[in-house]
Amino acid sequence: MLPASARKVWGLKRIALLGSTGSIGTQTLDVVGRHPEKFKIVGLAAGGRGALLPAQIRQFHPAKVSLATAEAVQALKAQGDFGYRPAFLKGPEGLLELATDPEVDLVIVATSGQHGFAPTLAALAAGKEVALANKEVLIMAGELVTEAARRSGTQLRPIDSEHSAIWQSLRGETFSGDRPPLPNGEENWSEANPKVQRLILTASGGPFRTFTREQMAGVTVEQAMKHPNWNMGPKITIDSATLFNKGLEVIEAHWLFGLDYAKIDVVVHAESIVHSMVEFVDGSIKAQLGTPDMRLPIQYAIGYPERLASDYPRLDWTKLRELHFELPDTERFPALRLAYEAGQKGATYPTVLAAADEEAVTFFHERRISYLGIPALVEHVLERHNAITHPSLEDIAEVDKWARAAAAEEAGRMSLSLK
Ligand code: MG
Repeated sequence: MLPASARKVWGLKRIALLGSTGSIGTQTLDVVGRHPEKFKIVGLAAGGRGALLPAQIRQFHPAKVSLATAEAVQALKAQGDFGYRPAFLKGPEGLLELATDPEVDLVIVATSGQHGFAPTLAALAAGKEVALANKEVLIMAGELVTEAARRSGTQLRPIDSEHSAIWQSLRGETFSGDRPPLPNGEENWSEANPKVQRLILTASGGPFRTFTREQMAGVTVEQAMKHPNWNMGPKITIDSATLFNKGLEVIEAHWLFGLDYAKIDVVVHAESIVHSMVEFVDGSIKAQLGTPDMRLPIQYAIGYPERLASDYPRLDWTKLRELHFELPDTERFPALRLAYEAGQKGATYPTVLAAADEEAVTFFHERRISYLGIPALVEHVLERHNAITHPSLEDIAEVDKWARAAAAEEAGRMSLSLK
């Protein structure tokens, strides 16, 4: 039987969107709403910001709607008539049911943190196309997730703008000529590896790109939430300010494209116009450029293998005078060094990195630790970790729990020292 991607190319792609009310979720629905002839929303799941959900249900008429708790389902039902009767689901089981629904071709994982983990594995096992906006899934369990994708013959599609840029740059480079394309028309990225010299991930540098360590010491949550270029959720915005986001993206790139860390570089590019680059063995570099608009990589991931038209704002070359590039400073941004170290050590170190960082960002939002306390806390937790090689799903869940508890302990210690 042909995989879903081949069957559905010219038809309507049926989508389950996990995390519909977050930043990526709402932008995904914007894209879907512009292409009703291409996409149909079959399932929606939302964790927080439930206030957006009734309007989403009325517009897209999903057959199934999943919420975090039974109380949230009750509250939603109390909001009145949707003009039809969607099936209501709840909790982690609800996410799994949407991810494996026989009526679904493509699962978009846009939940935050660890919630995306089990549904991603379940969707891959069920042979669905999976577009991944939740990078923590790959960082915490890269080996398991890529193995599940390989087994089902499905390609994980990145929604992250940098990885989308690399994916787009690799397109057309992946066939060695003596081998036909895979039967489903998908391109096998790992075949391109011998031709790739290195990947160059661009980083905006965040709002504190030019700050000294002394200036960083006084940074507030409000300052850190003002990203210069991108409009994103509260966790990733802080991660962009610390460069943890870029560090996580290095690990994400390692798993997505199967390259050693020595072949993945980061360059700071303040304008966020060049979204990332691939340098090939002959010295040629291919890059993908565009306005910093997440709807572009979202649309590419869900529309693939087609490139759909859009009326999103265009780059205006007459106004674009300069593009800047500089090496990242790991003294001022230790997060990047921590991520490379955790990635290179492998095993469960990346799991600890992602879990401890997620907790640290929450503690920063709650004003329990300082901005500089975020990488310091993560480093302390990493130092305490006894790693497990080739972890199972249960190992990862255990390590995740341990890392979060250790992060809370470290935060307690750090907030005491702040007083
Ligand atoms: Mg990104």
